[in-house]
Amino acid sequence: MFENINSPIQKISLAPFDNLFVKRDDLIDPFISGNKWRKLKYILIDVKAQKKSHLVTFGGAYSNHLVATAAAASRSNLKATAFVRGEQVHNEMLMLCKLFGMHLIFVDRESYRDKQLLFEGYFGNDAEAYFIDEGGASQQAVIGCAEIIDELPESYDHIFCAAGTGTTAAGLLNGIEKNKLKTKLHVIPVLKQGDFIRDEMEKYISISDQLQLHTEYHFGGYAKTTPALISFITDFTTATGLLIDPVYTAKMFFALVDLQKQGIIKKNEKILAIHTGGLLGMFGMKEKFNLV
Ligand SMILES: *Cc1c(COP(=O)(O)O)cnc(C)c1O
Repeated sequence: MFENINSPIQKISLAPFDNLFVKRDDLIDPFISGNKWRKLKYILIDVKAQKKSHLVTFGGAYSNHLVATAAAASRSNLKATAFVRGEQVHNEMLMLCKLFGMHLIFVDRESYRDKQLLFEGYFGNDAEAYFIDEGGASQQAVIGCAEIIDELPESYDHIFCAAGTGTTAAGLLNGIEKNKLKTKLHVIPVLKQGDFIRDEMEKYISISDQLQLHTEYHFGGYAKTTPALISFITDFTTATGLLIDPVYTAKMFFALVDLQKQGIIKKNEKILAIHTGGLLGMFGMKEKFNLV
């Protein structure tokens, strides 16, 4: 299932850009989407090496990571359990998790904070259980995300990605350094006070001045939107035929367009945006779109 995939790179026409490309990691798989596939690849190799058979992980009720883990577990004949943050709910994402056979345990926000304690409390005696952090954040995930860079057939002036935990960004920067590219990596944190992403990345790799963190594009915080972001998504999708989600990739593309307007990015430079997938999550926000 985790054979090398080499997701396609497509040129998109979006004024005023002359050389804008998108790495379509969203096309890797509908459920193990985008960077979640990249992250799980080496985690599952480690699971097999350690002869574990039960994935235990964590996420919110609209987590792309939970759906990805559930699908990956069922395809690899592994058991999966998720601790879901907040009160018991049902939605499209959790329905998919259950269809793939994942067991869900809802925990209040306070207990959710100490993930290691939850794991020990429930599965401390389960020798088969394997801890996967929220969002799949891990050293293995960084290795998987670095392979995005190995797949590039040519070099780019700028690469853009969205960041939640910064694991994907760490992998990309690591790949850029390993391949001795001069590419600048522009990272757009989707949470407020996004400077913490630098510290998160530093847990895994050493950071060069090729990293540019743009912390002004969170639109109020994680999973928060504004009417401006929603109309950006509508215009972008109409213009390019490419679907983007309000939580991650829309914030990245908004930043890219805005940085060009500011003159920080030139319209003729060669740019690659990483489409990290995660489109299912937007169904949790359909009322925001006001398109009915
Ligand atoms: C999870 C996710 C991210 C965040 O990736 P990190 O490695 O946690 O920074 C970005 N984009 C999409 C679509 C995601 O689902």
